Amino acid sequence: MSGLPEARLGGIFAPDERWMGEALRLAREAAARGEVPVGAVVVRDGVVLARGHNQVEALRDATAHAEILAIGAAGSARVAGAETEDGSDGDGNAPGADAGSWRLDDATLYVTLEPCTMCCGAILLARVGRVVFGAADPRAGAVVSSARLLDGNPYRHRVEVVGGILAGPCGELLRGFFRDRRRDADAG
Ligand SMILES: [Zn+2]
Repeated sequence: MSGLPEARLGGIFAPDERWMGEALRLAREAAARGEVPVGAVVVRDGVVLARGHNQVEALRDATAHAEILAIGAAGSARVAGAETEDGSDGDGNAPGADAGSWRLDDATLYVTLEPCTMCCGAILLARVGRVVFGAADPRAGAVVSSARLLDGNPYRHRVEVVGGILAGPCGELLRGFFRDRRRDADAG
């Protein structure tokens, strides 16, 4: 990736933790709306292309996972002009920007939970270059847990995968959400 010396300074400049923190913020937003708390952000060269959080309930759409929404929005963002790191409007001309392309070979998808089967399909179709996930999902995770769909895929697309970034807070948010939901169900 960047190979920048700053990347080794830890707390000062640790991009993966930083962007996972942003995905975690989106996951908390999902929880506040009664959605299973999973958040995702697509980043390219320090620029946010798109953000998404799970919206299965709001959209009454079983496919409205954070990754699907973020990947879809990232394609549109490249047409419209990306948002800069500080959240202001960018000029859409980030170095090497490939406006109009749906391909995300040069982007990283940060997601708080290991992607499922469907989301792995979307990652491959969009040719996402790098996937960083937080907590593993032993039941439905299809990157390393229940399957390894990104390895040896039919598209011959190589995806760099990093797991376990901020896994503690990402997983705790999910466990807390389901704990509360069970409690509410028991009380009702
Ligand atoms: Zn999914």
